[in-house]
Amino acid sequence: MGALKFWMSVATLTAGLCLPLVAAADEINRELVKEGRAEAEIIWRRGFTQDVPGLSDTLQTRLARLVGACEVDPAVTLKVRVFRSPMPNAFCLPDGSIFLFQGLLAKLNSWEQVDFVLAHEARHAIGWHAQKRLAQAKSRVAIYQVLSLGATIALGTSGSSNAGFYDMLAQLGLGLATSSMISGYGRELESEADRDGCQMLRQAGRDPCASLSALRLIIPEEKEESKLANVFWGSHPLLRERIADLEEFLAADCPTDTLIAADYRSCKELMLLDSASLWLEHKDYEETLKACESHQRLAGPHPLATTVRGFALVHATGPDSLMMAERNFRQALALANDAGFRLPWRGLAEAAIVRADTVAAVAYYEQYLAEGAQVPNRRACQRRLQALREGRTVFGTDPADDKTRLKADGPGEDF
Ligand SMILES: [Zn+2]
Repeated sequence: MGALKFWMSVATLTAGLCLPLVAAADEINRELVKEGRAEAEIIWRRGFTQDVPGLSDTLQTRLARLVGACEVDPAVTLKVRVFRSPMPNAFCLPDGSIFLFQGLLAKLNSWEQVDFVLAHEARHAIGWHAQKRLAQAKSRVAIYQVLSLGATIALGTSGSSNAGFYDMLAQLGLGLATSSMISGYGRELESEADRDGCQMLRQAGRDPCASLSALRLIIPEEKEESKLANVFWGSHPLLRERIADLEEFLAADCPTDTLIAADYRSCKELMLLDSASLWLEHKDYEETLKACESHQRLAGPHPLATTVRGFALVHATGPDSLMMAERNFRQALALANDAGFRLPWRGLAEAAIVRADTVAAVAYYEQYLAEGAQVPNRRACQRRLQALREGRTVFGTDPADDKTRLKADGPGEDF
């Protein structure tokens, strides 16, 4: 059966918390599960998930406890993975693959809030929301719109940090299941997953107010439209509607809880540190600095976070930013007090290149590449050091960029 014809044949659907669904065994659900499983496999194989020792097991155990009382169709296997991205997002594929972004784990303040996200996502899979979402698309035009959502997302967020992310997913060839589910399931199904998620928290003996505190934590992102639009949390009005809906549903004054739970602290610290590095990788220096600040407030001065902040400052445009960057690199070296921690030396070299101080850049690269040092990008850095020694011009601050940049700038440079 052709894909479109297949989606068009979606029939009436039934729902209910933790109940087996009449439509559960039908062909459409099987097809969606198959597609979801294939796409989850691509995401995993291509290295977009992060195996954080201990964390994946903890998340899986918590998920199992939450869905303990629910009847789950045997076709659905609920499995949670950590997604390597600094954005505050999460999504679930129809086969039950749940992806929690490192950026979301960095934003949340307690395991109960994490539980809410897990419960919400699990409800999408248990409740066959992918199929319902397609059933809502009543006309052929609407179905085309759903099918082309991935492309819309990739184009619609051009210029923002999301653009690279969605481009990447599009390049992976991820189809309907991933691209539409990442952008949420629409108002009704999101509300259903929120309410049912609260019930699951209650049934597992956890505080349903964690749902509200989790959503409220994401609200400050609202000012930066490009970073929130089209992601798990939905559009701005949708997020506000979801909060209002939960306030009504819970019929209780949930406190505006911004405290970080003691037992979640170490997870948050780790996720903030990872997020800072990932924002740096994405070349979003403003977000890198924000993540570093949050990490420092929580964990105090830390050699890697201080180094990452230094790298972001090398790219900042403020009058003193280069000086501040160098100060951060020196601070990081002092904090680490470990000859094996060499990254700040590379930072100092890159700052020296920006200052056009070749002599200093050579000296710092030599420190970075000292004999026996275990450093990433060693060969690219060695080529760069050689170019500096020979008085050749190097462009930008990232040795990994040399090859393509110099090629574009003209022949004669052999990097
Ligand atoms: Zn959702």
